[in-house]
Amino acid sequence: MILESKVPEGPLAEKWDKHKFDVKLVNPANKRKYEIIVVGTGLAGASAAATLAELGYNVKSFCFQDSPRRAHSIAAQGGINAAKNYQNDGDSVYRLFYDTIKGGDYRSREANTYRLAQVSVNIIDQCVAQGVPFAREYGGLLANRSFGGAQVSRTFYARGQTGQQLLLGAYSALNRQIAYGKIKMYPRTEMLDLVVVDGQARGIVVRNLITGAVESHSAHAVILTTGGYGNVFFLSTNAMGSNATAAWRAYKKGAFFANPCYTQIHPTCIPVSGEYQSKLTLMSESLRNDGRVWVPKTVETAQRLRKGEIKVGDIAEADRDYYLERKYPAFGNLVPRDVASRNAKQVCDEGRGVGATGLAVFLDFAEAIKRDGLNAISQKYGNLFEMYAKITDENPYERPMRIYPAVHYTMGGLWVDYNLMTTVPGLYAAGECNFSDHGANRLGASALMQGLADGYFVLPYTIGDYLARMPSTKVGTDHPAFREAEQAVAAKNQQLLSINGSRTVDDFHKELGHIMWNYCGMARNAEGLTLAKKEIRRLRDDFWRDVKVTGVNEELNQTLEKANRVADFLELGELMVDDALHREESCGGHFREEHQTPENEALRDDENFAYVAAWEFTGVGNKPVLNKEELAFENVKLTQRSYK
Ligand SMILES: Cc1cc2nc3c(=O)[nH]c(=O)nc-3n(C[C@H](O)[C@H](O)[C@H](O)COP(=O)(O)OP(=O)(O)OC[C@H]3O[C@@H](n4cnc5c(N)ncnc54)[C@H](O)[C@@H]3O)c2cc1C
Repeated sequence: MILESKVPEGPLAEKWDKHKFDVKLVNPANKRKYEIIVVGTGLAGASAAATLAELGYNVKSFCFQDSPRRAHSIAAQGGINAAKNYQNDGDSVYRLFYDTIKGGDYRSREANTYRLAQVSVNIIDQCVAQGVPFAREYGGLLANRSFGGAQVSRTFYARGQTGQQLLLGAYSALNRQIAYGKIKMYPRTEMLDLVVVDGQARGIVVRNLITGAVESHSAHAVILTTGGYGNVFFLSTNAMGSNATAAWRAYKKGAFFANPCYTQIHPTCIPVSGEYQSKLTLMSESLRNDGRVWVPKTVETAQRLRKGEIKVGDIAEADRDYYLERKYPAFGNLVPRDVASRNAKQVCDEGRGVGATGLAVFLDFAEAIKRDGLNAISQKYGNLFEMYAKITDENPYERPMRIYPAVHYTMGGLWVDYNLMTTVPGLYAAGECNFSDHGANRLGASALMQGLADGYFVLPYTIGDYLARMPSTKVGTDHPAFREAEQAVAAKNQQLLSINGSRTVDDFHKELGHIMWNYCGMARNAEGLTLAKKEIRRLRDDFWRDVKVTGVNEELNQTLEKANRVADFLELGELMVDDALHREESCGGHFREEHQTPENEALRDDENFAYVAAWEFTGVGNKPVLNKEELAFENVKLTQRSYK
């Protein structure tokens, strides 16, 4: 299939404006004849639902939590980027675009990334108008800090709770429309299938998580804003409930899945402490504005530290290796995440790691506290320090934090064109669940920017263009396509409940996570990936033979919910491995050990791999079809990334 990205003609900086003029409009009186389903109430979903309802469409909004404001977005800590150039430090729309393309290791679509940078400035205005309490300078102007992969300060923040404050803003907008009756909210409701009628997305099948009832909802278009799939690794910084089911089931109904192997491993997380852990905690990248990353210079000192023979304070300045500052003087501790993570792994693999397991490096605030005072550091990062102290029982004001990389974000997702439409007409994907803007590595503070850009500023234009071309006639949920999907969902639930095997769902999930982390994690190679594929298939067979799902369908049954999600992860994991195996290059978060520069940096192969890999479903266990969207770089020059 030829993938049409639908990128408008014309100069980069004019494409979006031109497109906004060219798209068809739906007049106000007609908007109320159309229904749109929005699955997800994180930043992408809440902003999309509120804006579309504000425009006059009838919206049905779904989430699996008890309240839309509990979406995973609420966990976002460090900030949101925007090219406002309030600091007058050389920022511009073009620079944000350029940093994002370079940060993504030249594997994203230029036009989308440029549009993202363009609308970033509107997002801040929108959120301020909603009352989002961004941090301010003494004089009242909005404050900024720096994030990785940038040499300017363009990150807007609300202490370490930016996601929460932004979501409260979007949630208020959502509630306003719920009160007006333009949005009908379905909490505690999980989408388990997409319904396609005559080649167009016309609805979804859901399970009511309280009663177990399987129900259908029809609409003229469906938007998925269902977040990322990092939990395929079992341990990640994502909310425990984050999953791939909605996107995965849409994939099985014809939506292509793009670049599934592009996973972001975040460098600053609290290290794993034991086998029985089920969650990892992020220490925001914003901390690298002031914290300095280091390990002992020698293996011997690291060993003595691990054995408790010396304390961290005993290690003289001259015996510390601030390896990021040493290797990347231009960006120092603020190199992009993939670079920082790989370097942490490298020093730990050399035996210079710290902490009981040796799988940690220090993030040290001593110098910043001495320079700016404890109060200033506490004002910027207080809640993060508190969180760290609660989890580790160590005081980060007095001794350096210990951090290690952990799975955090997925750049891959449903393939979308410039309008954010998937390969199924009428099915859109926005926020983390699409693949669109970050290439092979997302820069810090750019996920919130993308989710809100998609929801507040892109979809409201592009979806009208689609609806304006279709009649407002409704498809009833008595249509055979709905019946068929409902039966398939009910049968799958029944199958899961009837196996009555000997292993828990979590046990399978954990084993899958080990396979993914060991062979498709921070470093990958052909041998490991080939083994992983076999192991995942074996595990999937075991799951369908031996999983134990307790309880019944007709009640709240979180084991059944989880079983459905893990069943999908067991299929998605294999696709991630296939994608990683086929991509014979390293780029961003995808590091193939066979392809690295003499200095151990990611070595791209632009001649053969400057494309988006969009996979097409052909049946579980069958080889998926690879479709390629060639990436054209007309405005930036492809170079080896350098942060030195
Ligand atoms: C700890 C942490 C800190 C972060 N900090 C930052 C930061 O400072 N800056 C930044 O830019 N990014 C940050 N990120 C990344 C960012 O938070 C996410 O990428 C972003 O919030 C995703 O938003 P979303 O709207 O796409 O999806 P989500 O917020 O994940 O929302 C998904 C929604 O979909 C719903 N859903 C999912 N599946 C179904 C289904 N089958 N049926 C019904 N509903 C469903 C859920 O109920 C939920 O409402 C952070 C991530 C983590 C984990």
